[in-house]
Amino acid sequence: MAVPAQSPLSDIEIARLRIINYPDPRLQTPGESIEHGNPPVARVAARMIELMRAAHGIGLAAPQVGLSWRLFVCNPSGEPHDDQVYLNPRLTNLEGSLDGEEGCLSIPDVTGVIRRAARVTLVATNLNGRPVERSAEGLVARCWQHEVDHLDGRLILDRMSPADKLAARRVLRQLETAYRRGQAASRP
Ligand code: ZN
Repeated sequence: MAVPAQSPLSDIEIARLRIINYPDPRLQTPGESIEHGNPPVARVAARMIELMRAAHGIGLAAPQVGLSWRLFVCNPSGEPHDDQVYLNPRLTNLEGSLDGEEGCLSIPDVTGVIRRAARVTLVATNLNGRPVERSAEGLVARCWQHEVDHLDGRLILDRMSPADKLAARRVLRQLETAYRRGQAASRP
């Protein structure tokens, strides 16, 4: 079950957050709006940045750590000063389209060519509660669209071509088996 938006999280629970994998149903649970003033949000964002960096990713959305919050972090350049945190983001002014290869930290070893808007504007709130509006193209625009998809419970699998999905079939079966085993092991 996903953790609802307003439930308090202790420091220990935040430290225990991990990236969860397909086919965990929490990845398909749309996130709920969150308040910047909700005390654990900044600490959760810091933990997510840590997890994203350790996994060599450029973005991570709250549902990927089992939280149904509308929050994502990203760092498309990999530079420490480039960490970005967005609360309750939405995309506007989607323009053009571009095919590009994408992977996902929650679906290890699977990639597919995904068509995205070439340019987008992101409207969100930052950790200080200030409204943010930014426009981007290329990799940053792709990253934002991928992460906002997560907040809507949507994965790259939902956007991949049948051929890419077929190519990923064996890895997906392995992930499904690993998930079932994990579930069985955690039952009392
Ligand atoms: Zn992803």
